[in-house]
Amino acid sequence: MDLIPEILASVAEFEGIRHVIHAHPETGYEEHQTSALIADKLAEWGLEVHRGISGTGVVGVLHGYQSGRSIGLRADMDALNMQEQNDFAYRSRYAGKMHACGHDGHVAMLLAAARQLAFKPDFKGTVNFIFQPAEEGGSGAARMMEEGLFERFPCDAIFALHNWPGLPAGEFATRPGPIMASCNEFRITIYGKGSHAAIPQDGADPILTAAHIVCALQSVVTRNKRPIDSAVLSVTQIEAGTSFNIIPDTARIGGTVRTFSLEVLDMMEQRMQEIVLLTAQAHGCNADFSFLRQSMPTINDATQTAFACGIMRQVAGADKVNDAVEPTMGAEDFAYMLAKKPGCYAFIGNGAKPRSGNHVYGLHHPRYDFNDGIIPLGASYWVKLVTAFLDDAEQLSDANQPMLQSLDDG
Ligand SMILES: [Zn+2]
Ligand SMILES: [Zn+2]
Repeated sequence: MDLIPEILASVAEFEGIRHVIHAHPETGYEEHQTSALIADKLAEWGLEVHRGISGTGVVGVLHGYQSGRSIGLRADMDALNMQEQNDFAYRSRYAGKMHACGHDGHVAMLLAAARQLAFKPDFKGTVNFIFQPAEEGGSGAARMMEEGLFERFPCDAIFALHNWPGLPAGEFATRPGPIMASCNEFRITIYGKGSHAAIPQDGADPILTAAHIVCALQSVVTRNKRPIDSAVLSVTQIEAGTSFNIIPDTARIGGTVRTFSLEVLDMMEQRMQEIVLLTAQAHGCNADFSFLRQSMPTINDATQTAFACGIMRQVAGADKVNDAVEPTMGAEDFAYMLAKKPGCYAFIGNGAKPRSGNHVYGLHHPRYDFNDGIIPLGASYWVKLVTAFLDDAEQLSDANQPMLQSLDDG
């Protein structure tokens, strides 16, 4: 492992910052104290600070010794609406709010890197430290894109890290191409005609229609897409009726679709609409179909991912980087940034051994906690990634040996 000594020496400070943020969790677009803490620290270290970006976002800009290319690093800042069950000293002070996804740790790692780079701006070009609001279902990244983040803060490439429980501390994992899925919600309402349950010929049964629709929707996954393309369609809600002897007027169906490509997503939405409307018609009913795209697939650029993996190997060790991790059907809104700029989203191991008790608690678990022990690894990765990216544009194509050696003298 090749960690930056100054970062190792100041680790207590960043653990302290992490614990303050953990104790004061704020959810999407309400990260007022969190973003003020971040902005104040960046200003203290001499970065150019932009507050109030897309609500509560913060961007810190750091210029090197001469102009050059630019890089964007993203950390999300928001917590979740859930009750923490940990009992350590820095547990959440706010009832029903918790940093259960480790975004407190993402902030700490990026701040540690910002301070290190501010003290040693040994690069040409510009680093944009992007502290994003509302990752957890608030579409903070999409809003930053709509509001012109990259027009205001140009970036040639962008990178993000997410901690991953179950992956050993000290390791990284990522992959080129899709790494997280698109997340979409669908809602269907079937309008029939209510009647006495014993006189069905007087009505149009929305429940029988709904049952046909639920079955037929699965054919989209098995019959309409190529078998080698991944997708999942889950009906998770079905609602109708008030009594055993009444055929109701309406039935409602809800669920989610996940895909790794927009082409498959477009096809599935189209086929689902046809199945819903025509199946309803076949049963003498009408239907409404709505399809809400909540997050697009997170797709890593192959070149930038190979480059980032080279830095990970240098920092963590050659055998500590999985560059072909299995993609997950979860979603991540950094996807919206990756749709605009090439880059790499990677997992940093939060630990595969229990940190307390007998379990490794997963993300969004009430006993989850970010592993402070990985702050130096994440921060060292950020610093070396920036230095390598900005110091030699030629390195874009490959993380090759001469560059890795030149980094060793830091
Ligand atoms: Zn989360
Ligand atoms: Zn998260």
